[in-house]
Amino acid sequence: MIVIKSARELKAMELACRISANVLKLAGTMVEPGVSTWEIDQNIRKYIEKQGAKPSFLGYGDFPASSCISVNNVVIHGIPSKNCILKNGDIVSIDVGAFIDGYHGDNAYTFPCGDVSEEAKRLMDATRESLYEGIKAAQAGKRIGDISSAVQRYVEDRSYSVVRDFVGHGVGANLHEEPSVPNFGTPGRGPRLIPGMTIAIEPMVNLGDYKVKILDDDWTTVTVDGKLSAHFEHTIAITPDGPKILTVADDEVHL
Ligand code: MG
Repeated sequence: MIVIKSARELKAMELACRISANVLKLAGTMVEPGVSTWEIDQNIRKYIEKQGAKPSFLGYGDFPASSCISVNNVVIHGIPSKNCILKNGDIVSIDVGAFIDGYHGDNAYTFPCGDVSEEAKRLMDATRESLYEGIKAAQAGKRIGDISSAVQRYVEDRSYSVVRDFVGHGVGANLHEEPSVPNFGTPGRGPRLIPGMTIAIEPMVNLGDYKVKILDDDWTTVTVDGKLSAHFEHTIAITPDGPKILTVADDEVHL
């Protein structure tokens, strides 16, 4: 069932999303050579709890941390660890959500650590841009497939690939709700976009092949070919006036 949010519910979503965006921005400032992903996660947890919110990911399906931090060939669901020390040239995808007043926000961004290669920069730029292509397509009256195909076309035109095994999703009182929001698909297909729907659009884009595998910890998802992957995500609302990005930080700048 796709939940259509009332004006009151959208207000609550806005707060959860704002906290999610603020903490993602804070996490980005910590991405530096020599820092462990565990340290970043600790600060994420502290920040979220200081706002009176809860980290959406902590304990979700027994996930052991407050954020997913996925470095280089790790696509998503990297578990923060004291042993994972960031190095110059890494690309670091941080995915984090906050829960407050009954609602979740969810967002992700891939940050460069120090000086990254041109190849990595181009991949990150294309992935971020594909997210905005998807958002632009999220117009009331259109369908999920219009978002999916906009992302896919943008990515594949640049000879990158979109991950098939993981997709975006509805978000609200639950971190993951219907509908699924794939990053690949056919225009005009799938559920219709209705004002009051809130969805997380989250392209996961690989430099090489789209195939991924999950490691023995049951979370860490890596590219099969070992090449780089990037991940960007916003929670948005479908409104009569067009898509509205909800994961906006206090300075009104969305990443
Ligand atoms: Mg998500």
